[in-house]
Amino acid sequence: MKTKKPREVYTLADLREWPRVAAEVSPPVRLGVLGDPVAHSLSPALQNAALDHSHLQMQYGRFHIRPNELKEALELARTLEFVGLNLTVPHKVGACALVDELETEAREIGAINTIAVRAGRLLGFNTDGIGFARAVRSEFSVDLHDLRILILGAGGAARAIAGQCARADCERLVIVNRNLEKAQELVAQLQPSLAGPRVLGPVARLEAVSWEERSIRFQLDHTDLVVNATPLGLSPHDAAVLPATLLQPHLMVYDVVYSRQRTPLVAAAREAGARAADGLSMLLHQGARAFEIWFERDAPLDVMRAALSA
Ligand code: NDP
Repeated sequence: MKTKKPREVYTLADLREWPRVAAEVSPPVRLGVLGDPVAHSLSPALQNAALDHSHLQMQYGRFHIRPNELKEALELARTLEFVGLNLTVPHKVGACALVDELETEAREIGAINTIAVRAGRLLGFNTDGIGFARAVRSEFSVDLHDLRILILGAGGAARAIAGQCARADCERLVIVNRNLEKAQELVAQLQPSLAGPRVLGPVARLEAVSWEERSIRFQLDHTDLVVNATPLGLSPHDAAVLPATLLQPHLMVYDVVYSRQRTPLVAAAREAGARAADGLSMLLHQGARAFEIWFERDAPLDVMRAALSA
């Protein structure tokens, strides 16, 4: 069968007339990412390579859906034989109230990035946390369980990552956020999972810390892995995530931000002699986990990785 590729971006108007619009494409689009904006999303490259390699007769598209359109878009996906969806900014939180069921982790995090459509029911998942854990293992050959971890940020990505660190029973977890109250709320939520005193020394096992150089400097002496879970570094006009003097050779640095060039944080960390990786590997692994949920089979990781680097 000759492949006719999906359009670059679909809209809600296209979904409303889907039988006519979908007839232009072969094999049919039965998966996609919803976002606003969405044109930058690398998920179609990742997932279409996996679908093609696995001989699954369907394609994955991009859907530009605004927040006030999300409810209708999900209702349409439910009835139009979609297999699954991904959600990106700004839909991860809003979609939670629109699905029929939330997997436990997604409920704890309060955000979903993956929906599976099963027998007309929408099931919500969050694959960012597991994607992060697999990315750290592949980049640094370590498990979260063995690490003292400091996360910068307390938004959606940080919540998924922190939840994964707590489930892995990591040695120590520190949440640093500009808005300290948000970090404190997250710490309060994680307290039951990280109650035991695993870490030795003059520091707590779990704490929220304000975004001040002096406090961060002290914490970094008791940290193995630093995670940037803020968007800092996405724009060339952004301030540095951390002053270069704080980056020490003993650290592993994971930047959830990714771009065609090395991110400023990864460049600065390597310059300081630390090991560092950007968020492409997390993107790969969260997408692979979504594929596993939709098709209940292993994702072709090497094919997906190659599609991302192309
Ligand atoms: P949210 O908007 O939910 O959270 C943003 C967080 O960053 C908040 O804690 C916010 O702090 C903090 N922040 C924003 N601007 C600044 C700043 N100038 N200085 C200090 N802190 C700041 O975003 P998400 O958590 O959803 O996404 C964060 C980043 O992670 C995005 O760039 C996203 O693309 C990326 N991401 C990457 C993934 C991957 O697979 N690699 C997966 C998911 C996300 P405050 O609370 O004080 O406002």
